[in-house]
Amino acid sequence: MVASQGTQGSDQVEIKNRLMKKLFSLGLGSALLFFHLNLSSEQKPNIILFLVDDMGLMDTSVPMLADKKGKPEKHSLNDWYRTPNMDRLAKQGVRFSQFYAQSVCSPTRASIMTGQNSARHRVTQFISPESKNAGPKDWKWEGLTSKDVTLPSVLRTNGYYTIFAGKAHFAPIGHEGEDPTKLGFDINIAGCSFGAPGSYFGEDGYGNLDPKRKKRAVPGLEKYHKSDTFLSEAITLEAKKAVTRSLQKDKPFFMYMSHYAVHSPFQSDPRFLKNYESSKKPRPAKSFATLIEGIDKSLGDLMDHVAAKGVAENTLILFVGDNGSDAPLGDSYGYYSSAPLRGKKGTCYEGGMRVPFIASWAKPGKANSFKIARNHLHHEQIGTVMDIYSTIVDASHSSSPIKHPVDGISLLPQLSGKINKKRPDHFMCHFPHSHRSSYFTSFRKGDWKLIYRYITNTGKRKSKKPLPKYELYDLKNDPYETKNLALENTKKNQ
Ligand code: CA
Repeated sequence: MVASQGTQGSDQVEIKNRLMKKLFSLGLGSALLFFHLNLSSEQKPNIILFLVDDMGLMDTSVPMLADKKGKPEKHSLNDWYRTPNMDRLAKQGVRFSQFYAQSVCSPTRASIMTGQNSARHRVTQFISPESKNAGPKDWKWEGLTSKDVTLPSVLRTNGYYTIFAGKAHFAPIGHEGEDPTKLGFDINIAGCSFGAPGSYFGEDGYGNLDPKRKKRAVPGLEKYHKSDTFLSEAITLEAKKAVTRSLQKDKPFFMYMSHYAVHSPFQSDPRFLKNYESSKKPRPAKSFATLIEGIDKSLGDLMDHVAAKGVAENTLILFVGDNGSDAPLGDSYGYYSSAPLRGKKGTCYEGGMRVPFIASWAKPGKANSFKIARNHLHHEQIGTVMDIYSTIVDASHSSSPIKHPVDGISLLPQLSGKINKKRPDHFMCHFPHSHRSSYFTSFRKGDWKLIYRYITNTGKRKSKKPLPKYELYDLKNDPYETKNLALENTKKNQ
């Protein structure tokens, strides 16, 4: 499947083509050239892809789940977390109640970069920086390379200045893709091969000044070493400067703002600790909540920054998590971390692969180049991390100079508040590896979700009862996966 233009994009291209033909017929070649250049630059929005590591659907004060009538439904975790800037973004845009990622980091990150499902790009497991991680022989543990068609490389070809900030984790140490500038980014702020930072504290140089944490020391950011600047804040400050510099270049910018937070180590962000001190929850859960609030401040700071620079109405923000929640609140197979969803990061259940997704203009207004519905919870259809590639390519009227198969579908029709009748209603999470829910492929089609396990008694569970080979859930009537219907519906298993 190749990325297609959304409705809005197609309309604009059609109008442009008709006008160009008219100008040709009038013999106005130079006017055409001026018109073409002018229209192209005017219509390309700035784009901020705001990616939060290990943030699940419920790790926010924004109600992301829908009730049976499709209205936002609050749950207890929405009262625990504090994300006022996500609230602000959600009120002025569209959020999805059913947005899917792969259940661990690297497969999702490769999907965002390529628009492909993990079974196609083959980065099916999280990349271990020093060695090949567990799994079948032929998974692409080397990660992405300069030969891959990537979202930033496509955007750069189409006139964008491309900024990378934060956690990269695209390839292991010593491999080409560990450096984001080899994958299509013009600049790299603090990105490297690993996913978990040595430390979030400026006092120990984000790991550089602590021998025990040096193995995962965050590169760059030296000016903040020995200061009290938390890692999320340092990356945000540098990202804001990069935006300012890019606006001076008279080019639209694409910024892949990828926070190390809220991945472990669960260190408390001192700026927000007072908000959670009185709770009886365990200390790591409080620390996790401060990390969440830190990335929320970063979101608000970037929204304010583009507003101060006068480009908010021409800046599209896509907010997304990279896998299900890893909040230290309960058992991997339990219900706590993503409650009321079942499971967490790395598992085959909905809590392992449902993530927050919000799309909005930094400021809704007349200069927006396409419509995004306001304060709208899209609950009817799914969206996936593969769609981000297609959506951004569509929104920016870009195209890949090299033929490139894409599994994602532009979300622009859905962002306008409509149903996209052309989009299929399925999502596959392919994870033939050992980690929490070992060796599984799950497939959602419509209301039904099938889980297939290649191995049912591996790893830590050897001493326990083997897990079922098949699980089947009716997500419409059992959204929290409590009743395995596999034995009653053997035809659906086939
Ligand atoms: Ca992750």
